[in-house]
Order: sequence, then structure tokens, then C-alpha cells
Amino acid sequence: MNPVTRRSVLAWAVAGSAAATAGLSGCSDQRAVVVTGQVDRVRAGAYRDMVISGVEQVRDLWGRDRVVLPIRLHLPRSAAQWSQATGHPVVERGYAGTTVRRPGQEPVVVIHPDAWDALTPQGRAAVVTHEITHLAMGSSGSAPWWLAEGLAEYTAHRASDADPARIAGSALPRLLADPPSGWPQAAASTSAWQGYASAWLACVFLAGEVGEQALLEAHTRTHAGSSWQDVCRASLGRPASQLHRQWITWLQSVDRQSA
Ligand SMILES: [Zn+2]
Repeated sequence: MNPVTRRSVLAWAVAGSAAATAGLSGCSDQRAVVVTGQVDRVRAGAYRDMVISGVEQVRDLWGRDRVVLPIRLHLPRSAAQWSQATGHPVVERGYAGTTVRRPGQEPVVVIHPDAWDALTPQGRAAVVTHEITHLAMGSSGSAPWWLAEGLAEYTAHRASDADPARIAGSALPRLLADPPSGWPQAAASTSAWQGYASAWLACVFLAGEVGEQALLEAHTRTHAGSSWQDVCRASLGRPASQLHRQWITWLQSVDRQSA
């Protein structure tokens, strides 16, 4: 059986992050994180610290109980080992991390070996926090793709003081050049960042518009089977189509402010 995975992308070179470096209160670092793989001690230690910081960020938004420790992190040394651990193709451009869930086993976050060289320290941390957010969300539910991925990115960049246009980069003007009539969709792997950035921008807008907790609740409801349209009407107080129009208007204002 193929493992069920969610992926985050290598597109974070510009992203800032105010990640804390404090350890987890009440837990020793050793018990909070299990790192496996054949990488050097420096890299393994850096990733261990990123997990500890990422857990704090996820807990700060989603709640302490949503993150179950220890976090299992696997660091393949080669693309072949990545493929073996994830079931993904050996040549898979652009993906930095993924969460692998196999029946009867604890979920494992697997980091692509190229991520270390391709990303800034902030970008590496964002990938780790993105994947820990998926752990907090739980195994595959029926939430829309853009809501699950957008919220994972939102969590990863929530502490950043970089403005949205800077983090989104070229994805924002590309999005506005042909504004979508619906909510974001996954893009082809060659331009995966376009889909992830669009999903993230949707969640930045929605968190500001309806509030973070209402947005998380909307995720929980869709994850459990409600439709996005129903959740908008029943919980967010307006039709999804109205929120979508507001999102596009907000994108245009973000773009103007960054010009
Ligand atoms: Zn993801």
C-alpha cells in the first residue's frame, strides 16, 4: 500500500521566521523528538531544534493537546533513500518534506535531503513546522486541499513579520494575472509553489477576516465531513462565494501595498 503523504514545497528562501529556540516545557528534548537517518550530527541536531521550535508554534495556534510527542523525523541522506522512505519518485523536484502514515505505525515526517542546501534556515524551519501541523490535523480527513495546506503554511509563517507579498513572491502577481473563480487548487509539481502560496494567501485572508479560531474550527468541520459551503454559511456567517470575492479584493490590496 502506498503511504498517505502530504507534501510541502521548496520555495521558502525569502520567508522570515521568529522561531523561538526554547525547549519544550516539561519534556526533555530527547523524548520530544526522535530523529533517524544517516546525516551528520550537526544537521540532525539542527533539525531536532527545528522540531522543538515547530512544536511550540503549532501548539500556540492549535492547542497543546493537538501535538502528540514524540515527533518522529527521518532524514534520508540521498534521493534514493527519500524515495524508499516515502514512496515518492526518486526525481521529485521542489518537495522538501512530507508526512508518511502507514497502517499500524506512528506517522513520520521525512525531509528531502536537498532541502538543507536549497533553503534558508527560516525556510527549513517552515517545512518542519508545516509537517508538524499536518500531524496536529490528524490523518487524512475530507478538508479541502487548499484549507489543509494553507493552514499548514499559515502555522509555519504565523510568527514571521515578513509581509505576505514578500513571502508569496512571484506567486501573488501570477495569481492576480488570472484570478481564480474558485478556491486554490494544487498546481503541477513544476510550479507546486503556486498552489501552496495561493492556499496560504487564502488562509492569511480568512484568519484576518473571521479570526484564527473560527478558521481552525472550519477546518475541523470540513475535516470531519462538512462541506466548505455549509461551514461558511453556518459557522462563518456568509456564503463561500462572498468570502471568495473578498479574498480576491484583499489580494489586490496586498499587491498594491507591496508595489
Ligand atoms: Zn502539506
